[in-house]
Amino acid sequence: MSSQTPSSLHFVLIPLMASGHQIPMVDMGKLLSQHGVAVTIVTTPVNSLRLDPLITAHNVKFGLKIQLLSIRFPCVEAGLPNGCENLEDLPSRNMSRHFFDAARMLQEPLEKILKDIQPPPTCIISDKHLPWTVQIASKFRIPRILFDGMSCFSFVCSHNIMISKVYEQQSDLETFVVPGLPDRIELNRAQLPSSFNHGSLDLVDLRKEIVEAEKASYGWVINSFEDLEKAYVQEYRKTKGDKVWCVGPVSLCNEGDSDKAHRGNRSSINEGQCLRWLDSWPPGSVIYACLGSLSCPTAPQLIELGSGLEATGRPFIWVIRKSEITTSNDDLQLWVSELEGRVRDRGLLIWGWAPQMLILSHPSVGGFLTHCGWNSTLEGVCAGVPMVAWPLFAEQFYNERFIVKVLRTGVSVGVRAAIKWGEEGKAAVLVKREDVRKSVEEIMSGGREGEEMRKRATKLAEMAKRATGGGGSSYLEIKAFVEDVKQVSNKLRQQVKDS
Ligand code: UDP
Repeated sequence: MSSQTPSSLHFVLIPLMASGHQIPMVDMGKLLSQHGVAVTIVTTPVNSLRLDPLITAHNVKFGLKIQLLSIRFPCVEAGLPNGCENLEDLPSRNMSRHFFDAARMLQEPLEKILKDIQPPPTCIISDKHLPWTVQIASKFRIPRILFDGMSCFSFVCSHNIMISKVYEQQSDLETFVVPGLPDRIELNRAQLPSSFNHGSLDLVDLRKEIVEAEKASYGWVINSFEDLEKAYVQEYRKTKGDKVWCVGPVSLCNEGDSDKAHRGNRSSINEGQCLRWLDSWPPGSVIYACLGSLSCPTAPQLIELGSGLEATGRPFIWVIRKSEITTSNDDLQLWVSELEGRVRDRGLLIWGWAPQMLILSHPSVGGFLTHCGWNSTLEGVCAGVPMVAWPLFAEQFYNERFIVKVLRTGVSVGVRAAIKWGEEGKAAVLVKREDVRKSVEEIMSGGREGEEMRKRATKLAEMAKRATGGGGSSYLEIKAFVEDVKQVSNKLRQQVKDS
C-alpha cells in the first residue's frame, strides 16, 4: 500500500449535537480542508439543515471538499420527541440521558457508511462526549483524536483540583486557591463543574466512559493558541504528552460578513438590519449581551439583567433565547415588551439566535457581557473587546477567572455558585441589576483601569490573528497535526498489511 498524499487524507469529524460543539468543529473542518484534507462532518437531518448553508458557501468559495454526512437521529427509539436532535432543543434537561442514548445509536449506521466511504477514513476527530467513537476507531484501525472544546487553563485547573482534592474540606462558598498554577486563582466548591458537584441529573456513568475512552485516544486538538495561555499549554502537555495541537481560535477562519453571520443556526434578525443598527453608533459604544445557547435563567433573573442593561444608559444588544421566554410566564413576556418600548432608541433585542461573530467584530461594539462559554470567550478575545463575565455552569467559572485574573481583560459580575443542570428554577436571582450596571460601566469607561483593560484586549486580538495567519503558531500546529496523523495512519496501514 502506498503512503498517503494530502489529497488522499480523509478526516471524519464527529461533533456533539449542540452549537457550542458543532460550530468550532465545522470551523476546524474548514481549516483542515484548507490544508488539503478531505473532511466529512457527521451530523443528523435537523442539524444538517443548520449546517448545510455554511458548508456549501465554504465549498463554493474555496473549491474545497467538506461533506456533511447526515444520519437519522433515532429520537423516538430513545424516548425523545421527534425532531429533537440538538441539546438546545431538549424540552427538559431531564431528557439528557435519552439524548446521549440516541447519539450512541448512531454508531452502527455510521460504521456501515464508513466501510464504503472514499477515500477511506484516515482518522476520527471526535467530541469527547461521544465515547463510543473509540470503538469505531479501533474497528477501522485508525487514530481517534479528541476535541473537548475547553482551554488548557480549564483542564489544568480541573486536573490540579482533582488530584489535590483541595475542595473536599471546604464548605460550598468558602474560597480556596487552586494549587500548582502560575497565577493565583481562587474559586469555591459551588463554582466547580458538575464532576465535582453532582447534580440530580449528572450522568456519572457517561462521565466514566468518557475518561476511559480518553485513555484509548491518540491525541488532542485544542481550540486555543500558544501565546494566549503558554504556561497552561505546557502544563497540559506535561499531563497528556506531546500529541496536543493548539489550532485556534478556529472562528478566525470566517473572514467575510456572510461567513461570520452564518454560524450554527439561522439568525433571528436580518443581518443587514443588524449591521445598519450597529453602523448608527460610534466606535466602541455598544454593549453586546448574550448568555450562550443553553442558558435557562429564571424570569426574575432575566428582569434583573434587562434592567441592568437599561440602567447603563448605553446602547445595547440583548439576545434572549426563545425558550427563555416561552417556558417562563406571561408577566415576563409583558415586561420584556415594555422594556423594548422604553429603550427603543438605543436597545436592540434579538429573540432567538444572534449572528454573534458578525456583531462582535463590528467596530461599534465596545464590550461583551458573556456567560463565558469557551467559544464565546475566544470570540470576545478575537474581537478585542473587554468582557463582563457572568458564568453559569460547566467550566465557565474557570473561563471567568481566566478572563479576569490571567488575561485581565474583563470584570466579574460576581456569581458565587454554578447552576446545576436541571435545577435552574432553584437559582432565582444570582446577579442584581446594579451589579450588571456597575460591571458594564467598569469595562466601558472605568477610568485608567478600564483603558488598560481595553488596550490589553486589543493586543490579544492582534496576537490571535497572528497565531492563525500563515507562519503563526496555530497555522503551523495544524500543519504538524495533519503530518503526524498522516505518518501514524501510514504506519497502522502497514501493520494491517503485514498482519
Ligand atoms: N452563538 C451564536 N448566536 C447565539 C448564541 C450563540 O452565534 O445567539 C454561538 C457563539 O458565537 C458560540 C456558540 O454559539 O460560537 C456558543 O458556544 P459557547 O461555548 O460560547 O457556549 P454554549 O452555548 O455552548 O454554552
